[in-house]
Amino acid sequence: MGNNGEQRRFFCTQCSRCCRFEEGYVFLSSSDVERLAQHLGILPGAVIDEYCRWVPMGGVQQLSLQEQVNRDCVFWQDGGCSVYEGRPVQCRTYPFWQHIVEEAGGWEREAASCPGIGVGPRRSDRFLRKNLRARARNIPLVRANGSGENNR
Ligand code: SF4
Ligand code: SF4
Repeated sequence: MGNNGEQRRFFCTQCSRCCRFEEGYVFLSSSDVERLAQHLGILPGAVIDEYCRWVPMGGVQQLSLQEQVNRDCVFWQDGGCSVYEGRPVQCRTYPFWQHIVEEAGGWEREAASCPGIGVGPRRSDRFLRKNLRARARNIPLVRANGSGENNR
């Protein structure tokens, strides 16, 4: 984990870049799907059918959120995340992801696309560990290639 103090500074400016304009691949675990289902008041299967797609990844398919026609996240509505309290772990832990925090130059590279990186309060070791652990434990749902019809 980087020792540079700047590597711990982060404050979301709510610019929305990480939720909009391009396919973001927000991968979902079973607990992400459960949380979204509770938040939306629908069944987990309906979350998958209505808001997700299966993305080919290394011989299997991983569950990801859909995008809208303009490539905004399916849950981006009226200037914000419409499921904020129920949002996936991948969104909750950004930008404290292993390859961003621990790889040489990862933090600096990511700062090019996130204006909140390198500004704001310096985050503690505990905060970093908590986020890295949460993401590492959040294993995306997968299925075999060729199964099911929801390949959007
Ligand atoms: S790109 Fe960074 S600053 Fe902008 S909304 Fe996402 S986390 Fe916040
Ligand atoms: S679920 Fe919410 S926080 Fe996550 S990418 Fe979509 S709009 Fe952004």
